[in-house]
Amino acid sequence: MPEHTKTDGLPERYNSSADKAATGKIACNACPVLCLISDGRSGACDRYANRGGNLIRVDPVIFLRRTLKDDESRLVPFSADQAWSDEPVNNNEVFVTGVGSSTTYPDYKPAPFIVSSQVAGVDMVTVVTEGIFSYCSLKVKIDTDRFLGAEQANVRCKGEVVGHVTTAEYGSQMLSLGGVHHLTGGSKKEGRTTMEMMLALGNKQAVELTIDGGSQIVIQAGKAPVVNGVEEKRMRVGCGSAAIGIFAQQFDGLADEVVVVDDHITGVLTEHQAGRCLDMRPSGIQMNGRKSTPGRYFQVANPGTGWGGTDISDPLSIIEAWDAATAWPGLRLLMTSTTGEHASWFVLDDALKPIEQAMPPEVQTVIDRIGENCEPSLCTVLFLGGAGGSLRAGVTDNPVLLTRAIKDALVNVTCGGAPAYVWPGGGITVMVDVMRMPDNSFGTVPTPAIVAPIEFSMSLGNYRALGGHMAHVRTLSEALRSGAWHNDGAPTNFQWQAAQPTNAWPLGTPPMLG
Ligand code: SF4
Repeated sequence: MPEHTKTDGLPERYNSSADKAATGKIACNACPVLCLISDGRSGACDRYANRGGNLIRVDPVIFLRRTLKDDESRLVPFSADQAWSDEPVNNNEVFVTGVGSSTTYPDYKPAPFIVSSQVAGVDMVTVVTEGIFSYCSLKVKIDTDRFLGAEQANVRCKGEVVGHVTTAEYGSQMLSLGGVHHLTGGSKKEGRTTMEMMLALGNKQAVELTIDGGSQIVIQAGKAPVVNGVEEKRMRVGCGSAAIGIFAQQFDGLADEVVVVDDHITGVLTEHQAGRCLDMRPSGIQMNGRKSTPGRYFQVANPGTGWGGTDISDPLSIIEAWDAATAWPGLRLLMTSTTGEHASWFVLDDALKPIEQAMPPEVQTVIDRIGENCEPSLCTVLFLGGAGGSLRAGVTDNPVLLTRAIKDALVNVTCGGAPAYVWPGGGITVMVDVMRMPDNSFGTVPTPAIVAPIEFSMSLGNYRALGGHMAHVRTLSEALRSGAWHNDGAPTNFQWQAAQPTNAWPLGTPPMLG
């Protein structure tokens, strides 16, 4: 029997001094890997270490404060002789997060921090833990029209399949990355690569991916994507039809025909309802692709990284012909992409052949307006995890009561203090924007699985009613002075961080206070 640490509260059974003397190592049982750790070394996840025969947590617990002075964001040891004021605690200025809080997996003991506080005269409790998520994934939104890969195409990291392309959304391509099947259902290498990719993206770092039959991309939460080595700048103002609708009145009088090239819907002004409302003269343009409704064309070209997310570099290639009975020499044609990054100006000659000419300044002004209305292209990374399993045992003796209380909006769920969306239906499936979480909120264990913070806040009365671990409720002041309720393997330090001002403060949101 290998030596175990006291992290499970069973020291006499698993951590006898005879065992320690025999092996010179201590075992961490905070996850099923059960690392044996020599003095001065850390375990496989780098979260726990052996310091002089004691198992300690290496990284600090993150405590959020609504306001923070520059010199306060330092490491602070949990210590009864800390000389700091209780004022922020008593004024609902402090929130303890699950980042660095420790736990066991599966959860067979109360959560490490079950802290009480008062908000607007109501006794509150926040149950704080780290979830170890086997069932988890990242949903990544990449603001670009450029073709990244076909729907369902495999996404690879270092050659391993780690996800797939999912449905495109308005102006964005979407990836589904990670998930239990890649973490645990494939080879060891696939699982490890998936885990490392998720860790990096969750912690706001850049990751390079390749998509089968598509592009090579570099993505990072909160940053512009890089597609085939080119940094994306603009998110499209809308589809081609929407762009026609938005700018029709500004084009009127400046051009006789406007084509907005888009891989989804290419818009043609004079045929479009917007042009008809302006009584525009039909131009006789005949487009490639499949006509959806007047002035709206699908599939004018193949998807690609050229104009408007198509594969074209010559805009005229999507014009099939001109109706000689309708078009006229001197007709002024503007072709633009949905971002305005590509735009060309043509005039029909006597043979009704478009001849490129310099863009008139007044037309360029409208193109610039299209660009001005494009938002910066970003990558957004949402963590999606299932917290409806054993993690609930750290909160209550009767887990289904926690699930029901969350569905009844009696419990506010946050991840590192960031608001989490809880999916309807069964379980506790939470989704959170990693950019709203503290830096380096995520960790891993080599099972493989992702470690992520989660906090459940509710009134003390509701916590009692759902079968909470009342004997482990401590005040926030006590928690700050003495740390987690169990000592061995628990964090020894905490760190203040400023709460993100755009996040709702996790405590005090009705109907929690009811
Ligand atoms: S991987 Fe980390 S949490 Fe798991 S047993 Fe090893 S040190 Fe402990």
